[in-house]
Amino acid sequence: MAHDPNCIFCKIAQGQIPAQVVHSDTELIAFKDIHPKTPMHLLIIPRAHIESLQQVDASHQEILGKMLVLAPKLARENGSPDGFRTIINTGRVGGQEVYHLHIHVLGGPSSVGR
Ligand code: 5GP
Ligand code: ZN
Repeated sequence: MAHDPNCIFCKIAQGQIPAQVVHSDTELIAFKDIHPKTPMHLLIIPRAHIESLQQVDASHQEILGKMLVLAPKLARENGSPDGFRTIINTGRVGGQEVYHLHIHVLGGPSSVGR
């Protein structure tokens, strides 16, 4: 699996730097955002280094589907059973800060309107 040795999310996926992991399987890992914007703020990432949604092609359809399917399950398990917001920031214009594809999953009991 392709990793970028300088990528912070690759390091999290490989256990080289700590994170509050809420899900881990052979292809995906999900963990709590270090600066949560809502009571529940998770990041779902592929273990493989994919820079952003700008880099995906048809070969990524399955992993992208798995990332999305995981979102409602993790929201339910992490205190946001009544819905959540998903965000994918892409590239400079999209305000992306970490160039390893990730889905933000935002919610929690009192996050309405934030
Ligand atoms: P982006 O703007 O790229 O979509 O957002 C990157 C997110 O990653 C930000 O919400 C930021 O708080 C989070 N983040 C950056 N570095 C770390 C880290 O080392 N650990 C964790 N858990 N989250 C991080
Ligand atoms: Zn990476």
